[in-house]
Amino acid sequence: MANDPVDEVKQFLEDNWDPDLTVEEWWQRLGRSGWAAPSWPEDAYGRGLSNADAARVQRAMAEFGALGPGGGLGLLLAGPTIWTHGTPEQKERFLPDIVTGQRAWAQLFSEPVAGSDLAGLQTRAERDGDEFVVNGQKVWTSSAHIADWGMLLARTNLDVPKHKGITWFAVDMHQPGIDVRPLRELTGRALFNEVFLTDVRVKAEDIIGGLDNGWAVANTTLAFERAGLGAGAADQASSNAQPGTVVGHLDKRAGDFVRARRSGMTFSAGSQLMIDVARDLGKSGDPLVRQQIARLHMEQEIGRYMTLRHKDLRKAGQDLPGFGNLAKLRMSEMMRQSRELGLELLGARGMLHDYDETQPQEESALYSAVTDLALWSPGPSIYGGTDQVQRNILGERVLGLPREPGDERSTPFRDLRKNA
Ligand SMILES: Cc1cc2nc3c(=O)[nH]c(=O)nc-3n(C[C@H](O)[C@H](O)[C@H](O)COP(=O)(O)OP(=O)(O)OC[C@H]3O[C@@H](n4cnc5c(N)ncnc54)[C@H](O)[C@@H]3O)c2cc1C
Repeated sequence: MANDPVDEVKQFLEDNWDPDLTVEEWWQRLGRSGWAAPSWPEDAYGRGLSNADAARVQRAMAEFGALGPGGGLGLLLAGPTIWTHGTPEQKERFLPDIVTGQRAWAQLFSEPVAGSDLAGLQTRAERDGDEFVVNGQKVWTSSAHIADWGMLLARTNLDVPKHKGITWFAVDMHQPGIDVRPLRELTGRALFNEVFLTDVRVKAEDIIGGLDNGWAVANTTLAFERAGLGAGAADQASSNAQPGTVVGHLDKRAGDFVRARRSGMTFSAGSQLMIDVARDLGKSGDPLVRQQIARLHMEQEIGRYMTLRHKDLRKAGQDLPGFGNLAKLRMSEMMRQSRELGLELLGARGMLHDYDETQPQEESALYSAVTDLALWSPGPSIYGGTDQVQRNILGERVLGLPREPGDERSTPFRDLRKNA
């Protein structure tokens, strides 16, 4: 019988974890050994584990007290897209820097008039010898201000229907012509940005998945986004360190970035936070509160069973169509339920939020986790495709319902009516 990966990772940590290493040194060990991305294939710096086993490995790492992998959009999206569609040379060039956190990535997909209608994007990439010249505007670009590389979707052919003339490029974010401007959200943070691209250069060799084939490649990126976010990837990491050359964490002491598991409440929707708040406020005996906590708990459990079912089906060579879309919809619903319950528990206190993260207020950390969650809660039902878009995909691609009417699948992009 194969070894349990949790035992293996514990042994690896016993032999290798040292809080006095720099973040860079530690992530080199972690990434090169396959433990930074254990669900990735073995020939792509992973260990070929199921998502459920990979999550167990992450939990084991957190419980051990070691710094987890850097996370970010490189591990979540760019890496899986590149090992799915990239050439062997591209995998060798990009993946090591992703699993070792040396380079950070951003996703330059959405545009002011192309969000749900992503295939309507208007950023142009025009060939110039061995390079392409890119002009256009992106928006809602998470982490663009700290990114070394961008996953860029641009239009390379106007004379074919809109889904057929798009290309997925890896673009170097450190070059003139890329102007990143922060956008502040309700939480007070500026997680995402507008990105203006003016005569930006991209090498033809940095096209991932082939010229004009970007729609298929982008769908891979989005499938990993939905499945990853639906699985609550952001909740699991035991790392406060961020990847890439811009943030400046790589040469710092690794031990200083280990996050205590309990403090990772930001963005997490779950019954445990609500139980803690209800107890703290002396409301855990209230039957209505108990009922809502139980409802949230059931939602979580349904998600867990669905993941187990998906895993078993995959083992048997089958699939659960729409699993990623359903997982993401469930995550959005849990965020909404958590927000409603959390704000109900807090009452008038729910109108106050601790915006200043440089001055953490210990006594109100639990309550701030709830208000932070409430302010963040609209996000998950928008990013990675809105709830309505997930339902459209389930309807059309899983249930086989008729597509939305229109001639966009046959009309060249040049002749389509544009939103703006
Ligand atoms: C926190 C956050 C982070 C993000 N990070 C990134 C990122 O890193 N990179 C990136 O590229 N993008 C990012 N996005 C953008 C995100 O992908 C888009 O906001 C999303 O796809 C929706 O597009 P839109 O904002 O243009 O809304 P629109 O497409 O204008 O939608 C407006 C409303 O109309 C509904 N709607 C639209 N079309 C249909 C339809 N056909 N059927 C039914 N309803 C429809 C939508 O559901 C929505 O309610 C992020 C967004 C958020 C909130």
